[in-house]
Amino acid sequence: TQYVYRFGGNVSDGGKGDKNLLGGKGANLDGMASIGLPVPPGFTISTPMCAVYYEQGGVFPESVKAEVANGIAHIEGITGKKFGDASDPLLVSVRSGARASMPGMMDTVLNLGLNDTTVVGLATISGDERFAWDSYRRFIQMYSDVVLELDHGRFEEALEIAKEDRGYNLDTELSAKDWQALVAEYKSIVEELWGKPFPQDVHDQLWGAIGAVFGSWQSERAKVYRRLNDIPGDWGTAVNVQAMVFGNMGDTSATGVAFTRDPSTGENAYYGEFLINAQGEDVVAGIRTPQYLTKAAREKAGAKPASMEEAMPEVYGQLAAVFETLEKHYRDMQDIEFTVERGKLWMLQTRSGKRTAKAALKIAVDMASEGLITEEEAILRVDPQALDQLLHPTLDPNAKRDVLTKGLPASPGAASGIAVFDSDTAEKRASAGEAVILIRVETSPEDIHGMHAAKGILTARGGMTSHAAVVARGMGRPCVSGAGTLAINAREKLFRVGTREVREGDLVTIDGATGEVMLGAVPTVQPELAGDFGTLMVWADAKRRLKVRTNAETPLDCRTARDFGAEGIGLCRTEHMFFEPSRVTAVREMILAADEKGRRAALEKLLPEQRSDFVEIFEVMAGLPCTIRLLDPPLHEFLPHEESEFAEVAAAAGLDVETLKRRAAELHEFNPMLGHRGCRLGVTYPEIYEMQARAIFEAACIVAENSGEAPIPEVMIPLVATKRELELMKAVVDRAARDVFDEQDRTIEYLVGTMIELPRAALRAGEIAEVGAFFSFGTNDLTQTTLGVSRDDAAKFLTTYVEKGIYAKDPFVSLDVEGVGELIAIAAERGRATRPDIKLGICGEHGGDPASIAFCEDTRLDYVSASPYRVPIARLAAAQAAL
Ligand code: ADP
Ligand code: MG
Ligand code: MG
Repeated sequence: TQYVYRFGGNVSDGGKGDKNLLGGKGANLDGMASIGLPVPPGFTISTPMCAVYYEQGGVFPESVKAEVANGIAHIEGITGKKFGDASDPLLVSVRSGARASMPGMMDTVLNLGLNDTTVVGLATISGDERFAWDSYRRFIQMYSDVVLELDHGRFEEALEIAKEDRGYNLDTELSAKDWQALVAEYKSIVEELWGKPFPQDVHDQLWGAIGAVFGSWQSERAKVYRRLNDIPGDWGTAVNVQAMVFGNMGDTSATGVAFTRDPSTGENAYYGEFLINAQGEDVVAGIRTPQYLTKAAREKAGAKPASMEEAMPEVYGQLAAVFETLEKHYRDMQDIEFTVERGKLWMLQTRSGKRTAKAALKIAVDMASEGLITEEEAILRVDPQALDQLLHPTLDPNAKRDVLTKGLPASPGAASGIAVFDSDTAEKRASAGEAVILIRVETSPEDIHGMHAAKGILTARGGMTSHAAVVARGMGRPCVSGAGTLAINAREKLFRVGTREVREGDLVTIDGATGEVMLGAVPTVQPELAGDFGTLMVWADAKRRLKVRTNAETPLDCRTARDFGAEGIGLCRTEHMFFEPSRVTAVREMILAADEKGRRAALEKLLPEQRSDFVEIFEVMAGLPCTIRLLDPPLHEFLPHEESEFAEVAAAAGLDVETLKRRAAELHEFNPMLGHRGCRLGVTYPEIYEMQARAIFEAACIVAENSGEAPIPEVMIPLVATKRELELMKAVVDRAARDVFDEQDRTIEYLVGTMIELPRAALRAGEIAEVGAFFSFGTNDLTQTTLGVSRDDAAKFLTTYVEKGIYAKDPFVSLDVEGVGELIAIAAERGRATRPDIKLGICGEHGGDPASIAFCEDTRLDYVSASPYRVPIARLAAAQAAL
């Protein structure tokens, strides 16, 4: 098998640029070279080699050694330099690159091929001694860290001391001689820590680096990143070996990173940072503060140092032309790495850029409007889950803010929480339910778990493309980076700004859209739903077949959901209305009543309350279908559980404490989830459902009278297992409807149907459909009853189940398509066989989950129902499922 694929100099072994084979970086290096962009030549060792490397315990097959030698010869042929040559040495970088980009998670070695001999040759041929020794010390430092795994702190310390001794502030102040002296010191550090001298054979160096990059696939931080981003462990990484180009050859050289559009706002403007006389890593590492790419961005930020547009206008022009070419070729916003060597531009990487939800939306809509992509593609480009970020509140512009300082607006959104100064504490306090803001001088890949646990991230150092910024945007966490006036003392768990001090546990707020850092928690306002969001939703609505309803039971929820585009109510849980303090007394009276007469008396008090609830809801939902579920939970949920409450409740209900306790004990159930609940309540106490049905129909008549537009009530009977149960309950509802319509002298269209949430109901759907006009799949309970797993008790073992691959995802979050899904498919088929126009929908958490929505589309359900904030997510996901 072939493992090595060359690129550059009119050679493209990779052909179509298969990312699965070459990794993202390798495929796009080949791609850029193939369309004639300036890319240093190189080769890619393909991803299948990664598994072979692990299987063989880190030994490479002979055939691959020959292929790599051939690859090196390819680079030598194009560059005219020789690997390990004393007079004109070829230097290479050895870079990781998996299928999916994992920024900063794996290792890279630059300047490989330098040793005590070649460094002299490099100095002579470049005519720049300082550059040669700077490159050598960088190489030793990186190689020792990545390949030899020595403590990098020792090298940094040596550099700091060297600068201090000479009275320098910046690395750029070190002369050739200074670097040379430092190289000697670095080599002695290596010998001391490693026990052997720094490897001088360039081939040993090369294979050491290749092995280390493959090895970095299994590093702890790479594993954590994969777990958080659903990247399978068996994909493996590719390794790219590429001729070095040098951004550290003086003031006509530079290195930078750029996005073809603003990754934070999506604005169609180049966005990036660069450093003169530096190598790639320097920009990301935040050693020096980078300069802006464009004049406009520099001016907007009020920064002094010249932008690249101003400092290197000619190269900047070439770069801008490359941006255009790349966007046209890849038809997406690109994230680019480049280097300028003595005035010549080189492209080192391109990939589809990570972006905020806001930017994703704007870029998709803009690109479709520009004709670069179609409307369908625009719909598919936006991750429905990510919309979540946009639908949530931002800081109230009118709220008082106690601004401590300002940093860079690195990832939008606002977050409040307690200040925490290390990632372990962030994780601990977050899992205890606290909102935390992670505050670090700068973040590194070791902070991933803390960043994930935090509501927001604040750093004192680093630019808009720093680690913190990139990772925060990817995770959808608000982030303020480079807040330079923060004096952070992580050891003492505090920071100071001027004379003010914030300690661990103090409340702070960050605004990732403005960069502001505030003391205390600042109130928020609702998001803006017009603009690009509105445009994309219009496109999505035109493509989707599934209707989207909402799960809501308060007028406020209903209004929010309608603003978000809900087309009716899929689930209104009436019991929530019973829990209100003013009503629970009447509910308890009903429960504690000795007979039907007593119950009816109590229900009489509840009727007007329930009716007014429905009036409010129906007014918001006028003309739309509203599925209302009759009482579902076991009655004892309404009774007090605390000893201290009994006396008060007994008094309110006009009973003595002993009777109350006895009744509570009678109602106690061993397994309430499968107990006296759902339609079992209606079967034993029909008067409860009768009152509820009456309240629904009276309210519908009132709204029809007032507004002329009645809702379409869909009365839903929960927890049905048999046709007979539904028959009995439907008779109760129909009778109430007839009575009300007679009294009001008006008829209103309505349906009676059932929730399918028991396996028996799914299997007997054929005969249940003889009675019910609609099915709503209650997938929360259906998942519990199908899997035999109680959702409230699942936390203890479900994570382990997911880790061990027993369920791919938490089945309460994403529908178990194989099991629960099959029951839904059976019920849908049998229901339709009996009643071709039966209405089918899904309520439950899954109604807002894109993967589950795709299943609903495949099963040709009529609608999904989601909580108000998830309605837009469901609309977009439904459109994607239909495309
Ligand atoms: P990562 O995946 O962490 O971004 P890369 O492989 O892209 O790692 O390399 C890190 C940095 O090294 C990049 O900024 C890139 O510009 C620089 N670099 C990589 N290869 C070369 C090269 N051949 N010449 C010059 N700089 C390089
Ligand atoms: Mg890179
Ligand atoms: Mg249920």
